[in-house]
Amino acid sequence: MIYETDAEKLAVARAEAEKGAAEGGIPIGAALFTSAGVLLGSGHNRRVQDGDAAMHAETNAFHNAGRQRSYRDTVMVTTLSPCWYCSGLVRQFGIGRVVVGDDRNFLGGQDWIAEHGCAVTVVNDPGLITMMAAFIEGNPALWNEDIGEE
Ligand SMILES: [Zn+2]
Repeated sequence: MIYETDAEKLAVARAEAEKGAAEGGIPIGAALFTSAGVLLGSGHNRRVQDGDAAMHAETNAFHNAGRQRSYRDTVMVTTLSPCWYCSGLVRQFGIGRVVVGDDRNFLGGQDWIAEHGCAVTVVNDPGLITMMAAFIEGNPALWNEDIGEE
């Protein structure tokens, strides 16, 4: 299957976020595609489920995509603006494009990766914004733990 549009790609990330929420976790999902729209791997934040602070949505998708020779022609799609940690991953491996579902609830390093040549598209999907806002409001301590705020 080819995920042609950003909306189709974002739906995969959203499904991961919903899966994470259903597991009692933080509802952030991501997926890595080729520029042609082939899904390489998807994932969601696993802090609660696995007790693993290193498994953000983007790192989990990156992990599940396995080894790729090059990331230049890949697209990382994430329901929430990538944090500095995940932005570092994007820059380190030269991921060519990032699609952000929501940068209203959180703004990570998306401007920084854009300055360094990554094509960043911000969608600000109303459904995703509502979902994340509700989570943050209901789980402030868990949210602050996830973004490294004390
Ligand atoms: Zn992150």
